[in-house]
Amino acid sequence: MRSLSSLSNMKELIESVSKELAADRHEAEMVIASLLGRPRHELHFLDAMSDREQVQILQRVRQLKQGIPIEYLTRKVQFRDHVLAINPGVFIPRLETEQLIEYVRKIPGREPQMILEIGTGCGALTIALAFLFPGARIVATDISEKAIENAQENIVDHALGSRVELVRCDMYGGISGVFDLIVSNPPYIPRDRLGILPPSVKDFEPLEALDGGEQGVEFIEELIEDGQMHLAKDGIMAFEIDDDGTDLLRTFLEDNNIGPYVFRRDLFGRYRYLFIGVDRAKS
Ligand code: SAM
Ligand code: GLN
Repeated sequence: MRSLSSLSNMKELIESVSKELAADRHEAEMVIASLLGRPRHELHFLDAMSDREQVQILQRVRQLKQGIPIEYLTRKVQFRDHVLAINPGVFIPRLETEQLIEYVRKIPGREPQMILEIGTGCGALTIALAFLFPGARIVATDISEKAIENAQENIVDHALGSRVELVRCDMYGGISGVFDLIVSNPPYIPRDRLGILPPSVKDFEPLEALDGGEQGVEFIEELIEDGQMHLAKDGIMAFEIDDDGTDLLRTFLEDNNIGPYVFRRDLFGRYRYLFIGVDRAKS
């Protein structure tokens, strides 16, 4: 990479980033545009970038090369129609979780009035649900202080403070009342798979958001069992799960006589969602 002081304009910055990342010019432009939070076509009108700004961009590009997710550098993540703040140390919402909302949207019946989300992270599911069900009140929890702070920022940005309550607690520890919909994308990676996650996940994202216990289903089983007392009659539970846990979860549900339930697949054809209180024939 060239010495920073010689990067006198955008063209040189693009060249330098493209060399650093072994990427072509277009990719380098896209990276720089994302890091600056500007549309790509504006880059060439930004010739007057200060040396300090250029140095910052190059430092971030080096972090990217080391595997840090770009969302932790831009501090922004897109979730459905919403642009959310995301802070390092907080789980980055995934595409498959957007699909959980689609399934919830299609469940027939009355709109939920009271919703509980366990493990809200930056608040993505809660914010999407708040817009989907404008009459609902939502309680969103997380055990992580960083997550609660991040979710608070997003709730305020989306003017949802009057309908969303954030609670820092462990599972249902701080929760009272009953809910029409209990939703969670809990930690569900089986422990022996944690080590083989991509470096961008295992080296940068919080372990407590991923570690689902020995078999990956322990957390979900606890959520189902302890959640029964918080679920309204005819209430629904909606979970994101790992495909490998389907058999264990099916056995658990049958053994405990919990149902009706239905597993649903993600865009890649893997079982990724579990709905309880939803009749397969009617959904
Ligand atoms: N809901 C967000 C999403 O879908 O993008 C975050 C999901 S992340 C996979 C799981 C979240 O559960 C993390 O934010 C983590 O801090 C939280 N969590 C882990 N253990 C928890 C517990 N015992 N009680 C409440 N939340 C917990
Ligand atoms: N789907 C996430 C991943 O692959 C895991 C999410 C979770 O444990 N809830 O990183």
